Amino acid sequence: MPSFANRIALVTGAASGIGLAVARHLAAEGAARLILIDRDALSDHFDCETTVAQGDVRDEGLWDSLDLANLDHAVINAGIAGAGAIAELPFDEWRRILSVNLDGAFLTLRAAMRAMAGRGGSIVLTASAAGVKAEPGVAAYGASKAALIHLAKVAAKEGAKDRIRVNAIAPAGVETAVWDAVPMFAARAAEIGRDAAFAEMAKLATPLGRYAKPEEIAAQIGFLLSDEAALVTGACLVSDGGYTL
Ligand code: NAD
Repeated sequence: MPSFANRIALVTGAASGIGLAVARHLAAEGAARLILIDRDALSDHFDCETTVAQGDVRDEGLWDSLDLANLDHAVINAGIAGAGAIAELPFDEWRRILSVNLDGAFLTLRAAMRAMAGRGGSIVLTASAAGVKAEPGVAAYGASKAALIHLAKVAAKEGAKDRIRVNAIAPAGVETAVWDAVPMFAARAAEIGRDAAFAEMAKLATPLGRYAKPEEIAAQIGFLLSDEAALVTGACLVSDGGYTL
């Protein structure tokens, strides 16, 4: 039987990249219903019942308006990137990144845990290797992702009594549109093309020499969500080609 037969799953950031790959993976693995959230419109169609809510994960009203009855799984994945040294970082930019990556994740997590209370479920938060390894220029993004790893641990301990498992995944580079907002990548991609820019960056600091495809990360999120990971909770799966070593 497929891993997610008869299951209902929520995915944020489902219009692009990792979130879209997760939605496709869950549909292919038999999910009965997907609840897909993104600030952008979704153009894909899935072979299961789908509820699409176009909105901002930071909007508390969005979460109050959603019907999450019988929710089995949640992938808290919507996020934005940004860079800048602390001494030069405008406070607005710090707040912008923290508000999407952390406030939005908190509101999603709270809604999912409320829906799963008393019946169990599993949740994965998309953190980042930037939340594990310090690098110059990623204070806001890295701090938001380190906070998500800790949030997953607290949620795992609070959720255990309700049989709610909560884990994080920390990829390093994944070949998605999130990189287009990183000026260094955007400039290099304009010069040599996106594929070559990804390959060049991956070789710089990734022992295994390449970035992940979103489908690879989606399959790993699928494992953490699935019953195969029934005793895995509060963990952070670092999936980074050795970048944090
Ligand atoms: P992406 O840009 O392709 O997808 C992110 C999606 O989130 C987009 O569809 C975007 O519209 C949506 N989104 C952003 N802000 C939102 C908001 N306020 N409300 C609702 N939707 C919002 O990028 P991705 O790489 O697939 O990113 C997914 C997650 O993976 C992010 O949390 C990101 O930080 C994390 N991540 C990415 C990488 C990487 O290298 N791509 C590495 C580690 C972690």
